Amino acid sequence: MSFLSDAEIVVAALEKYYQESVSSQQPVINQEPLEQIIEKLNLDAYIHDGGLTGKSLADFLDQYLATTTRVHHPEFVGHQVAVPYYTGALGSLIDGFTNNPMGVYELGPGATSIEYFVVNWMLEKVGWQPAPLNSQVAAENRLHGGGILTHGGTLANLTALLAARNQVAPEAWEMGIPHDLALLAPAEAHYSIARAAAILGIGQKGIYQLEVDENGTILPERLMLALERLQNDGKRPIALVANAGQTGVGTYDPLEEIGEFCHTHHIWFHVDGAHGASALLSEKYRHSLRGVEKADSLTWDAHKMLRTPSLCAASLFRDHHHIESAFQQEASYLFHEKNQPGIDLVHLTFECTKAGLALKLFLVLGALGERGLGEYIERQWDLALRTYEYIKQQPDFECAVRPQSNIVCFRITGSDQKQLHIRDALIAQGHFYLTSTSFQGKRYLRLTLMNPDTTIEDMQRLINMIRKIAEGIVLD
Ligand SMILES: *Cc1c(COP(=O)(O)O)cnc(C)c1O
Repeated sequence: MSFLSDAEIVVAALEKYYQESVSSQQPVINQEPLEQIIEKLNLDAYIHDGGLTGKSLADFLDQYLATTTRVHHPEFVGHQVAVPYYTGALGSLIDGFTNNPMGVYELGPGATSIEYFVVNWMLEKVGWQPAPLNSQVAAENRLHGGGILTHGGTLANLTALLAARNQVAPEAWEMGIPHDLALLAPAEAHYSIARAAAILGIGQKGIYQLEVDENGTILPERLMLALERLQNDGKRPIALVANAGQTGVGTYDPLEEIGEFCHTHHIWFHVDGAHGASALLSEKYRHSLRGVEKADSLTWDAHKMLRTPSLCAASLFRDHHHIESAFQQEASYLFHEKNQPGIDLVHLTFECTKAGLALKLFLVLGALGERGLGEYIERQWDLALRTYEYIKQQPDFECAVRPQSNIVCFRITGSDQKQLHIRDALIAQGHFYLTSTSFQGKRYLRLTLMNPDTTIEDMQRLINMIRKIAEGIVLD
């Protein structure tokens, strides 16, 4: 057996898998019991005997693909997971095959250069200065942005908040943290923010919650109250975190006003745009991020709205010094410190071995162009609004908020329990994989419209299906 013949088997199986998924020939979700999957895939025997190539590989792959949750299926309206464009998936293959860990330049000059370039592209979209491409310009030391690609938004948030903590408590790296550090964030922030607070020694109790309106977005006029509460407790904020947009219902905080507040009070402003920063690529919707350039740091995931396979996220900084000092170790980020024609990224990241994440994103960008990705985002945002308008016309349904991205939260008349029963029933039937969320005290069904093949007709069919299930449900 050889690479070429096995690769052909894999590609043929994936093509069939893709066609079955987009044309809804197979259920979007099919959860068999773990024990059964392990047995069916013959895992034990293969480990014992080896030989998983050729015909065995084809059989195994058939079985394996049948156990997946199909993101390419138009009824996939579940989590914030990219429906990857195939060129991005080929990027995963190329990166896996060449395996250039690229934390140091000599272990991946091409991968490092593409990451540097892609980070600069993102910085420019935010409205920040991209980093210089050669040491001469770097030596002039003009203010410019910086950033690093991370394995996910969770690590991107942690990186940004670590840099923020270093500004307020630079001694923390050596001495451990002082006990007066706090964080300002709305309760709607992603749970990775609370985790970061815990990891950075602030503690989850050190998070001072910001008040929000009926859309779940921060009320700028109430910011001062939260800051005073924090200061009255004798604390110092390492940062204020805002959402662009929030995970639950997808709404955007007013970044411009919050940015002004942070500037006035000398507070690090972190924007969590893991999901919603991609709207920067759309002329029609980039207004949702008005004021983002006032931030000190921004998290932006490519593996959510940029059709890029997991993982690929960015932790971006208006001022490159902040990321360069985040890990406070001997940094050879400057071109001339080592006699090499590029730079090492290992000083800017939690990780030591680091995948060539940028290649996946770049192969998508290169194929679709930034315009193509912008159009995809507009299509998904528009579909969310059309779905919302449709649901609003149904007397037995209500929505949590008017969507500001591709997330739609709604419920059918009845109890919280009823919403959960409906989700369970849909998943058990293998029709429509959706999630649920709790928002302002109520349980909602939640659609995340990631799939470019999901249509308004699919959404209308879903609503009718939910109604039918609800009619048949006997609740205890
Ligand atoms: C998804 C998400 C995260 C976490 O990012 P991962 O890439 O899943 O680690 C953080 N913040 C927000 C707002 C998100 O939507």
